[in-house]
Amino acid sequence: ASTFKVAVLGAAGGIGQPLALLIKMSPLVSSLHLYDIANVKGVATDLSHCNTPSQVLDFTGPSEFSNCLKGVDVVVIPAGVPRKPGMTRDDLFNINANIVKTLVEAVADHCPDAFIHIISNPVNSTVPIAAEILKQKGVYNPKKLFGVTTLDVVRANTFVAQKKNLKLIDVDVPVIGGHAGITILPLLSKTRPSVVFTDEEVQELTVRIQNAGTEVVDAKAGAGSATLSMAYAAARFVESSLRALDGDDDVYECSFVQSELTDLPFFSSRVKLGKKGVEAFISSDLQGLTEFEAKALDALKPELKASIDKGVSFAQKQGST
Ligand code: ADP
Repeated sequence: ASTFKVAVLGAAGGIGQPLALLIKMSPLVSSLHLYDIANVKGVATDLSHCNTPSQVLDFTGPSEFSNCLKGVDVVVIPAGVPRKPGMTRDDLFNINANIVKTLVEAVADHCPDAFIHIISNPVNSTVPIAAEILKQKGVYNPKKLFGVTTLDVVRANTFVAQKKNLKLIDVDVPVIGGHAGITILPLLSKTRPSVVFTDEEVQELTVRIQNAGTEVVDAKAGAGSATLSMAYAAARFVESSLRALDGDDDVYECSFVQSELTDLPFFSSRVKLGKKGVEAFISSDLQGLTEFEAKALDALKPELKASIDKGVSFAQKQGST
């Protein structure tokens, strides 16, 4: 197996730290580059004492972008500000949009060929922003830009397994659409192994999966949002990407990517990952939807479109000034 360089931008944060720890445990990683505007040296030193193969290096400030990003295979971006109680993902828009813009510009300059994993919310807008920035820099490769939606799948699998008393390890629920509220659409009818749900169960599970982030925000009561489960899910997506880069021919994940599966320019669905990024879209998941799912898909499109448009116009406004 080959080994790879991974960079985490925003590595000292609530998501960044456990994410860096999980990536440090991967045998596929040779170098782990941690970037943050604060507190990153301590995190890197701490992690560097773990006796797993990868080397851990810390970077801070724009002057270190070049050293941090040069030769990197996968860049993960959790940098931003977290949701507070009562805040919607869209409240975060302006702050996180600017952070993502700055960091993706650096990625465009120093490692334009890397897989880019966007975690910073609102993902429905920050992914289109990243795409526009990469286009402005002339290096956009739609196959390598990913919004990380793995947590929606992880939650769907967990909640379905609980509800139906299934062995968790076996359960796989594709989740399509976007990564906020009603734009998150778990396709329960496509659950594997196949299970029968009552209408009430579909309703209840769908709403729980869509609002699971708020469940965490409320439970933490002012102390932050989902960080540990988010880090777990993001680490799974990194590991899948590394396996694909390593030539594994059987890697499938849901992700929010540029897509032609619907009339929306970006859409989350299962995709096959390969060495060059997205290798195929699993369009069969969108066929034979239940009436509930078809209606939910119609209902999410205007909201998802508005979030995409908001991201695109933010980036275009920035680009023209
Ligand atoms: P979360 O819970 O989403 O991880 P945190 O606030 O705990 O939220 O972490 C976000 C991290 O992103 C912080 O460590 C913060 O320093 C970092 N960050 C904020 N702005 C930038 C930036 N421009 N570049 C890199 N990292 C940033």
